[in-house]
Amino acid sequence: MTKVYQDVCRRRIHDEELERQLNGLAGEEVAEPAVQHQLAVRTELQGVLCDFNMNLDPRSITKRKNPGNRPLCSPSSAARNPTQCIVCFGDMALPYNSRIYKFSRVSHMMDHVENIHLRRMPVAGNYRCFHPNCEPLGDFLETLGEFKSHVLKVHGCKLRA
Ligand SMILES: [Zn+2]
Ligand SMILES: [Zn+2]
Repeated sequence: MTKVYQDVCRRRIHDEELERQLNGLAGEEVAEPAVQHQLAVRTELQGVLCDFNMNLDPRSITKRKNPGNRPLCSPSSAARNPTQCIVCFGDMALPYNSRIYKFSRVSHMMDHVENIHLRRMPVAGNYRCFHPNCEPLGDFLETLGEFKSHVLKVHGCKLRA
């Protein structure tokens, strides 16, 4: 009983810490003011730079970055611990111990991913994979289903269907 209680506490602390960080980050993003340049030319330049790649669909971008469409991750990267959260693992802003945190059951990891991360993912729009190997690909996954099958196939991270 004590073991179960400790485990629940540990999970709650881990999730609360993440909530706090995520809220903090979201808050900063909202608070970030639109950049006001004094020179009009800078504003124009910003527009050009931010517009980069906007005419390409995500698949084209992925292909461009990955000529020949070779597998992005070696099969060995699938040997992850199935109780680790893939999103936390890829979050370099987290302390190392939080990144490699192992849940005591796979179902606890699944709960965590759903309650903490998937809730915040876009309802419309693309998904990105959070594994460091996939970082350069950006948001190349078009649906939540694609995201889930990608993390399973490439990283061995099973999430609920
Ligand atoms: Zn996580
Ligand atoms: Zn990936």
